[in-house]
Amino acid sequence: MLLNPEIMHEISLVRTIFRTLADNFSTEELDRVVVIELKVGPLANVEPVLMQNAFEAVVEEEEARFRKATLQVNTVPVLVHCPACDQTSEVQQYRFVCGNCGNPCANVVQGNELLIERVVFRD
Ligand SMILES: [Zn+2]
Repeated sequence: MLLNPEIMHEISLVRTIFRTLADNFSTEELDRVVVIELKVGPLANVEPVLMQNAFEAVVEEEEARFRKATLQVNTVPVLVHCPACDQTSEVQQYRFVCGNCGNPCANVVQGNELLIERVVFRD
């Protein structure tokens, strides 16, 4: 399988994830990774399906040690914090208004992230 140019953005994200893991875990630990869980916000410009495709492609081409690992993309809702009423609420359908008082609100406190949330190792 060749690396598909249409998913180069996701491929570069996957490479960054693998580099981050390599910086934080030993070779022996990396060989035992079975699940990599990501926390992804809707504003992070990441398509979960494309992340899966990119993950499989990079493992196949470059990172054989992760062949037994699966990628799990956990999406989280967009949350805004309203300075007018001091409440945090969920943004529905990209309408940036406070769910409590209805004021326009673009003070995003969750939704931009792309983080490694959890790594599971086999015994
Ligand atoms: Zn409010």
